[in-house]
Amino acid sequence: MSSRVFTVNRNVHPGFWPIIIGHWETLKNLFRTLVLRQASTIQYPEQKRDVSRRYRGIHILAARADGTPKCVACFLCATVCPAECIHIEAGERPERTIEKYPVRFEIDLLRCVYCGFCVDACPEEAILMSRENDLVGTSREELIIDRDRLMRRAGLAEHGVGYRPTDHDLRRPVRIEAIEDMKNRYGLNGPRPRR
Ligand code: SF4
Ligand code: SF4
Repeated sequence: MSSRVFTVNRNVHPGFWPIIIGHWETLKNLFRTLVLRQASTIQYPEQKRDVSRRYRGIHILAARADGTPKCVACFLCATVCPAECIHIEAGERPERTIEKYPVRFEIDLLRCVYCGFCVDACPEEAILMSRENDLVGTSREELIIDRDRLMRRAGLAEHGVGYRPTDHDLRRPVRIEAIEDMKNRYGLNGPRPRR
């Protein structure tokens, strides 16, 4: 709801006029709320406001078709994170084309500032954000969210996917074209170092 701003010159005696204006605004809002049922507030948490499709809420780790993490444990997200709240331990995958995966992937949601830099940095689009912002827990440990919880988060279906690179990254087609070109020329793993 839009609101008007009244500038008050405090160097002069205001008189009754500002008081009348203030009461008039209060009475208008009272009328809107009680009679027209147009309250500015909602009955949270039963009711929730719609948020943008680019909302930066609690993270999601994407999965491959076989259910394994899409993440290749490159550490780019952990490196770029300004809050230093991403902790990754890498393990080896048997496939020559993937190589690594996160044995451990944790985000400390109490340190996270929800900037989305990790999403921007990820070369695999493996980390996304959701529109979920209900951050409730009874201990700090509960709000350090691990790999499996990031992959299967309760509430995701209800809130939906939020900030992700595919929506706004204008350089993405250029990057994809460059990667495809590299694959065509050198194979999936790029040029091999000469011995
Ligand atoms: S949203 Fe920002 S602060 Fe949070 S984990 Fe990602 S990079 Fe770090
Ligand atoms: S940037 Fe992406 S692929 Fe790399 S470790 Fe983070 S989530 Fe995994």
